[in-house]
Amino acid sequence: MSNLVFSEKAYEGLEKLGLETALLQLDQTSQMAVAENWSYTEFLGHLLDGELAERLRQNVRIAYKMARFPYLKKLDDFDFDVQPSIDRKLVDELANLRFTEDGRNIILLGPPGTGKTHLAVALASLIVEQGRRAYFSTASDMVRKLDKAARENRIHRAMQMLVHPSLLVIDEVGYLQLDKAEASMLFQVICKRYDKKQSMIITSNKAFSQWGDIFANDPVMASAALDRLLHKSTVINIKGESYRLKEKKKAGIRLEGGEIMS
Ligand code: ADP
Ligand code: MG
Repeated sequence: MSNLVFSEKAYEGLEKLGLETALLQLDQTSQMAVAENWSYTEFLGHLLDGELAERLRQNVRIAYKMARFPYLKKLDDFDFDVQPSIDRKLVDELANLRFTEDGRNIILLGPPGTGKTHLAVALASLIVEQGRRAYFSTASDMVRKLDKAARENRIHRAMQMLVHPSLLVIDEVGYLQLDKAEASMLFQVICKRYDKKQSMIITSNKAFSQWGDIFANDPVMASAALDRLLHKSTVINIKGESYRLKEKKKAGIRLEGGEIMS
């Protein structure tokens, strides 16, 4: 652009359209357009870039709040060397998030402290970084909330909140025994997301053979749930000991008995 003429219409238009960032950046971007001799479309591109970037930032901020992660951990924070049973390449591949395009599930199995929640949060946070929605819940919290919602006649809405996000993390499946009604709630969530081809990340300390116990000793419901979860899935079986315990051992911290772990 060759000269700098300000048009009131432009300010008004951006304001009316709610393009707040573009409005704020209009003067500066116009000046740059002249200085850099941008074409009209280049100018518009820069103006919209600023608006879109700010919208993504806001969206990501909101998505993080809505995701309800118990803590924020990234893949970069994960030390793959201490957990050789995890295929790093596979995790890196999952990080491209293509699994969410065809409703593939990720199932993280392993003993406590081996990084299941960490990996689930790290992968889900990548969705959030794109401004998409993810939701994290432990299985027991989820069924408790659904049970409450059912009693208050708002189960439909509560279910929608679990079906709608691009990714649902159900953490700690199998840590607490579910009764029949709770198991059926968990089953419904799995079915609804499966029907809509919406991905889930499930973490559990129980092998699939023990899943009957999780579903209130109902092997039919357990295998129907597993059928759906495993239909399109990536299972990561973590073997090994707790990361925290390992760190403690490394630091030579005294356990309660007074002995030093080595
Ligand atoms: P769980 O398998 O019980 O869900 P977590 O993922 O919560 O375990 O891991 C327990 C703690 O140890 C978390 O703070 C997590 O960040 C950390 N942790 C576990 N594994 C690793 C690892 N390989 N590298 C870095 N931190 C880890
Ligand atoms: Mg955990």
